Amino acid sequence: MERSTIVRVHEGLHARPATRFVKLAKAFESDVELVKDGKAVSAKSSVKLMLLAVKENQEVTVRANGADAIEAIEALIGYLENPKAGLDDEETHAPDHGKEAAPAPAPRSAPALSDEASSGLRGVAASEGVAIGPAFVHLPPDIAGQGRMLQADEIAGEIDRFHAAVAAVQARMDRALAQDSLSAGDRGIVAALRDIAADDSLTGEAEKAIRGGNDAVSATITAASTIAADFSAVDDHYLNARADDVHAVGRQISLVLLGQDDASLENIPQGAILIADDIGAWDLARAPLKRIGGVVCGHGGATSHIAIIARSHGIPAVLGLGDRIHLLRKAQEVALDGNSGQVIIDPDAATRADFAGRVEAAAKERAGLAAFKTVTPKLADGKVIEVAANIGSLEEIEAAQEAGAMGVGLFRTELLFMRHMHLPSEDMQAETYAALAKAFAPYPVIVRTLDIGGDKPIAGIEFPDEENPFLGWRGIRMCLDRPDIFKRQLRALLRAAVHGNIKVMLPMVSDLGEVRQTRVLVDECAAELKAEGVPHATFDLGVMIETPAAVLIAPALAKEVAFFSIGTNDLTQYIMAADRLNPTVAKLNDVTNPAVMSAIELTAKAGVAAGIMVGMCGEAAGRPDLIPAFLEMGLTELSMSPASIQRAKKTITAMAAGE
Ligand code: PEP
Ligand code: MG
Repeated sequence: MERSTIVRVHEGLHARPATRFVKLAKAFESDVELVKDGKAVSAKSSVKLMLLAVKENQEVTVRANGADAIEAIEALIGYLENPKAGLDDEETHAPDHGKEAAPAPAPRSAPALSDEASSGLRGVAASEGVAIGPAFVHLPPDIAGQGRMLQADEIAGEIDRFHAAVAAVQARMDRALAQDSLSAGDRGIVAALRDIAADDSLTGEAEKAIRGGNDAVSATITAASTIAADFSAVDDHYLNARADDVHAVGRQISLVLLGQDDASLENIPQGAILIADDIGAWDLARAPLKRIGGVVCGHGGATSHIAIIARSHGIPAVLGLGDRIHLLRKAQEVALDGNSGQVIIDPDAATRADFAGRVEAAAKERAGLAAFKTVTPKLADGKVIEVAANIGSLEEIEAAQEAGAMGVGLFRTELLFMRHMHLPSEDMQAETYAALAKAFAPYPVIVRTLDIGGDKPIAGIEFPDEENPFLGWRGIRMCLDRPDIFKRQLRALLRAAVHGNIKVMLPMVSDLGEVRQTRVLVDECAAELKAEGVPHATFDLGVMIETPAAVLIAPALAKEVAFFSIGTNDLTQYIMAADRLNPTVAKLNDVTNPAVMSAIELTAKAGVAAGIMVGMCGEAAGRPDLIPAFLEMGLTELSMSPASIQRAKKTITAMAAGE
């Protein structure tokens, strides 16, 4: 028997709803299927259900065959029509998942240390400060099967071994879920991974491969790849991203089969130096940052997002070591200098003493700077220079306030978009921006509209494949092409402006038309909110100056906007034609190059002549050696990582005193 209905599950049968549906279906003896567009799948497999890609408001049929078919159909149709009914608290609050939370470790077969390694490697100096501490090596090994065919009499044992590994992975995930300390976000991730591990699709595929004579690790890798390919092929951006989850689960099962341990950033000991090839910005942002003594990475450059997070938390970092990162696989202790880019593996006694001394001196300097927290820096003529913070999440408000930030000069909204599996709603954006505005009022909070591109795609936006994502569809270009996304953010900002001093700036501007089109959208949003009776307020609109085009049209731009904020990270890469993430051209990526400094000066002149505020939010804004030059050019606002704020205030104060 069967019955059809319209699906009312918000966002469709994605991961968690699919799991709930399966849980309900499994409670019945009957065979149950869900049918969409003529395609029927078992309602007892969450992977198969997800692959059916059932969306909200689509019509589906529930088909059941067995003794309790009537009850099964009633319960499942009931869930599809009213998904919130009858769920316990944990289920209603468990968010859907994102990416693998806890990638695996670990050393094996490190290349012999070269002379360079023992005397010190050099990478990109990405976050200042020195550190020395135990190495925490976070280099997941490549997993490979045995690559031999099983004998017929080995197959049954191998299947048992496989099932034992699956059970061990599930038990580990259940233990993680039982911990009270798990955040809601992480709980959702682990729960979703556990569901995949428990699903017959993955285990069934793997078992089939073992019966065909493959060893369990090879079979697991093959099964995960097959199912991941199915997820990649669905016409749904969110489901495409689930391919990573399937690989993550396959990886966990394989590690157990190989008898290898898994490590997670969660377990990093106090003061340890994190060694990794690459870390997702979001993985790093939610790692226990307070415990991390330093970061050394194969990937990344001085203005990569890993560097930015490290700087905002005052964690010394050396990035861009490339393949040489593998020289650190067996390191016990690591010393690094985030000012020079030097990394020393297992330092000798003299080096250790030298670093320990420098760490202590840095701590003293920090203590000396603390007096500047409450200082309002002024130039000799009494003009106040606003020293503000660059942040990317509400979690960083405290660090910024602790440092003495006079507002926020750059709120990067990307993390807000990256940390959710769907585009954040207008309400949740409005709440976030309002919380920020309230935290710093009456100081201004400059929110940058979404600056995302093909180099770091997010769920919910289809990015084309691009040869040069940094020259492609990013920032304001993408936003203007997607008014549905852009207007949601602008409406949220207009609503938040009621709660404090919100200003808005546009990234990657290269043409006057981009500002004008944005204004039309802002006016449209304000009119809509008015018609809806929703409280809102206007905000100052400014632009980032970070493309050579913006520098060259700065006089015209200055007539149309309330302020400039110079983004030296991108401006340097575009003026110098040197990729900011490419360590090979790191030397050219130098803000002090006369070409970049004159671009900054041209911008300042245009802004000052038009009487608008000129600030800077690129990383150069926090450099004590450059601050005097920027202030002489006429900048009145400098926004930087919280860790740099007190030193910048000291520099300005000394400059005013003629020191
Ligand atoms: C810049 O480009 O200088 C900037 C501040 O923005 P982001 O580093 O986020 O590109
Ligand atoms: Mg930029």
